[in-house]
Amino acid sequence: MNATGGWERLAPKLAVTNRRVAALESEPERRNSFVSYTVERDSAYADLDGQRLLMMSGYSYLGLGGDERVVAAAKAALDLYGSGNHGVRALAGTIPLHEELEAEVASFADREASMVFSSGYAANVGTVGGLVGAGDTVFIDKYDHASIVDGCRLSGATVTRFRHNDVDHLDRRLAAASPDGVRLVIVDSVYSMDGDIAPLPELRKVCDEHNALLMVDEAHALGVIGATGRGIEEHFDHRVKADIKLGTLSKGIPSMGGWVTGPAELIGHLRYAARPFLFSAALAPAQAAAALESLRILQREPERVTHIQRESARLRALVNAQGLRTQDSVTAVLPLIAGSDEKAYDLATTCRRNGVIGIPVVTPAVPNDLARLRIAVTARHTPEDIDFAADAFIKSARECGIIPA
Ligand code: PMP
Repeated sequence: MNATGGWERLAPKLAVTNRRVAALESEPERRNSFVSYTVERDSAYADLDGQRLLMMSGYSYLGLGGDERVVAAAKAALDLYGSGNHGVRALAGTIPLHEELEAEVASFADREASMVFSSGYAANVGTVGGLVGAGDTVFIDKYDHASIVDGCRLSGATVTRFRHNDVDHLDRRLAAASPDGVRLVIVDSVYSMDGDIAPLPELRKVCDEHNALLMVDEAHALGVIGATGRGIEEHFDHRVKADIKLGTLSKGIPSMGGWVTGPAELIGHLRYAARPFLFSAALAPAQAAAALESLRILQREPERVTHIQRESARLRALVNAQGLRTQDSVTAVLPLIAGSDEKAYDLATTCRRNGVIGIPVVTPAVPNDLARLRIAVTARHTPEDIDFAADAFIKSARECGIIPA
């Protein structure tokens, strides 16, 4: 690094990050972040330096990433439209595939209209920033995803946090906040680090009592919860509705991109007010085609959803029975609690030695002493894979002293 005054001032900041990573990844086999795994297209296995390992931390819930129909749809879009697009959606960037995808998302979500962004992150930042600003108040769960937090920060609205899944606390926060302006409550349908579900009916009630809009982020819910994978409203038997639903096309739907759905007037406004949509290039044709095909397959093959629900419940029961803690998880996301950051790295390293990839998540992403392996069950995992993973997790946790030998 160049030793100019400018770099010298920045150096302490860079050193903090680099030292922290070096302390956790002190030896080559303890490397757990930015490791490049070659995941097999037709299985849940991945190659790492010639070793075949079971991937247990991937997000491709529906197991459709390597599906022939999805890959063929993406290839056909490449053949028809080429690799990129012609700029931003509002100008020359819109192609018929975008409109087809938006119609499919709206119909799947049972809403009037939808729009797609180039990522789930952009969908949150764009939607929040497009709806609220100075004079408005946003109420967010303490565990809401970073893209919601960033959208709130950029929006200029007043931001109030409430305790995780604590509707009484939200109620008090709403009662204490300014009565003026737009009031927007935002929650994750399924929390990405804990795998628990937001209490939608209770949230709806409190929002109605305080004239607040309710927005849900379905990133880890689409294809995962509800009998046919339609997310949080279906999970609660369609008893109540959120006002705004948003999600990603990079998890259950194995592509890239994000979406938001709601009344046509809301989308009509956001198409001009969501800055990451208005000022960033359109979703690439192959990504849009892969997303559209996957969404259609999900609707034809609900057994994928049943598989995820059954196998994640089974894995949770197997590890819990041996004393491994999984917080309040009730979905495909299973946090295997290790304790300290170092313990989480020990556990990940030992799991890898025992044939399974489980990625550690450490502070500040999770609270102190709740560092964990963030496990996700997908439709690609066979029942035999799940048995193998459970054995490896239990054996590794014993070897690391997380549960008694
Ligand atoms: N919301 C939640 C709850 C997420 O977990 C994520 C991704 N980790 C996102 C939004 C962002 O989605 P994307 O990766 O498509 O940008």
